[in-house]
Amino acid sequence: MNPRRASKPIQIGKVTVGGNAPIVVQSMTKTDTRDVKSTIEQIKELEDCGCELVRVAVPDTEAAQAISAIKRGISIPIIADIHFDYRLALAALEAGCDGLRLNPGNISEPKKVAAIARAAKARNIPIRIGVNAGSLPRAANPRLTIAQQMVDAALEQIKLLESLDFDLIKVSLKAFDVPTTIEAYQSIAQKIPYPLHIGITEAGTPRRGVVRSTVGIGTLLYLGIGDTIRVSLTAHPREEVIAGYEILKSLDLRQHGPILVSCPSCGRAEVDIVKLAEAVEEELIKIDKPIKVAVMGCVVNGPGEAKDADIGIACGKGKAVLFKKGEKIGVVEEKDFLSALMAEVERF
Ligand code: SF4
Repeated sequence: MNPRRASKPIQIGKVTVGGNAPIVVQSMTKTDTRDVKSTIEQIKELEDCGCELVRVAVPDTEAAQAISAIKRGISIPIIADIHFDYRLALAALEAGCDGLRLNPGNISEPKKVAAIARAAKARNIPIRIGVNAGSLPRAANPRLTIAQQMVDAALEQIKLLESLDFDLIKVSLKAFDVPTTIEAYQSIAQKIPYPLHIGITEAGTPRRGVVRSTVGIGTLLYLGIGDTIRVSLTAHPREEVIAGYEILKSLDLRQHGPILVSCPSCGRAEVDIVKLAEAVEEELIKIDKPIKVAVMGCVVNGPGEAKDADIGIACGKGKAVLFKKGEKIGVVEEKDFLSALMAEVERF
């Protein structure tokens, strides 16, 4: 695994992105931003599962202004997602957003970008230059690869911001196509000192989207690229946060809550392991501590296969063995499988 690329840290509210800061997990609300109550509720759900930064869509002035009321009801920094109209960025800054995301594909006029940069600088608010393969600037050179066109679009806007003495910059270059995304990030990573927000855009429903995002985000992280991640899924945004942490945990880049190890089950299993593992997963969402929990389908191989788990259960017909660090600590009846395991997890 490559060492993490050095980047110049920026501050989004209380959260540092880049430098030596932990890789930040973020998500985006799916509520109507103008509906302050629902948006706060959704952000609270995101906070509960560990989301560290949240972005909201700002389609109009009312949405931009709603940010000040939303901010009062939440505790993580909020980023305003701006497209097309630079005045919405100004309104979001006025309302107290902690970060801005601009798309150079639809706001590129120097005069307008300068107005945003001046207002952001006065408040010390960073800007993410969020390039999307699907909305490249019209001036992009069609002879270049899509990845190179994305990089050029970002560099163009970075140059403009730097000429205005603005350097609170973060960059993303997202595409649905994973090789394109990786090529774009690898190229820009060597050219700029700014932190990178990584993700795969429009990745899809959880089943497909998690795989696509994991391949893309996971590969980049393995290459040492990425300071904050967002997994885009057609699902409740909580799923994005959970998937984000799972990617980081898989690469040992962050610890966050429990790790669940479960056997795939096979002809040897005498209980419904899929059902039990799903129930345990649901319970573990509520637990903060970094504990490794194993759910195994048989007493013969279970404890051995999950030796490094902190707490585990190996199920047999009607009964299961509970184990701690590979050592047997008790036997439980089938009706108590879940409660007994969770009681040991709580006690650990
Ligand atoms: S732990 Fe037992 S039931 Fe599960 S896959 Fe291994 S052998 Fe099969």
